[in-house]
Amino acid sequence: MSSRLTVLSGPSGVGKGTVVAAVRRQYPQVWVSVSCTTRHPRPGEIDGVQYRFVSRAQFEQLVRENALLEYAEFAGNLYGTPRAPVEQRLAAGWPTLLEIDLQGAEQIRAAVPDAQLVFLAPPSWDELERRLSRRGTESRAVVEQRLALARVELEAQRRFDEVIVNDDVNRAAAELVTLIQRVCPV
Ligand code: 5GP
Repeated sequence: MSSRLTVLSGPSGVGKGTVVAAVRRQYPQVWVSVSCTTRHPRPGEIDGVQYRFVSRAQFEQLVRENALLEYAEFAGNLYGTPRAPVEQRLAAGWPTLLEIDLQGAEQIRAAVPDAQLVFLAPPSWDELERRLSRRGTESRAVVEQRLALARVELEAQRRFDEVIVNDDVNRAAAELVTLIQRVCPV
C-alpha cells in the first residue's frame, strides 16, 4: 500500500467531529470515511454525509458479508467502517482518515498494523463532562453512560501512537494534518 491510514479516536464528546471538520477545511485533500450506524440521525444529520444510517438487520448483513473493516457497539448502537472505500483510497495513495471509537481503533491496530493511531484527549475531565452535558440532545442516562465509557477510554491513550490535546480546535486540527501528511505525503 502506498499510503498509511490515520485513525482519530478518543472519548465521546471530546470533539473528534469538530476537529475532523477543521481538518477538512485546512486540508481538503483528506478523505474521511463515512461510517454505517444503527443510531438515529440527530437534527441536521444527513444520510450519507455524517453517517450511513442503517437498520440493525442491514448492519448485521454487512458484518456477515465481511464488508466492515471494524465495528463496535457504542452506547447501545452499532457503528462500523465500510471496508471497500477505505481499501480503495489507501491503494490509490489518498490521505485517509477514520474517526472511530476506542474499540474500533483497537480492531484497526490488528487489521491494519501500520495504521497510525491518534488519541484526541480532552483538556480536562470537567471540560469533557461539560461538553457531553451541554450537547442536550441525549437524556441524562445516556450522558452518564457515555461519561462512564469515557473514563475507561481516557486510560487507553497509552496504547496510541500519538496524543493530541483538544484545547484549541484549529491547533489540534493542524497537529492532526501534520501527522496525516507525515505518513502520507501527497
Ligand atoms: P456519535 O453517536 O456521537 O456520532 O458517535 C459515538 C461514537 O462512535 C464516537 O466515539 C464515534 O467516534 C464512534 N464512531 C463513529 N463511527 C464509528 C465507526 O465506524 N466505528 C467505530 N468503532 N466507532 C465509530
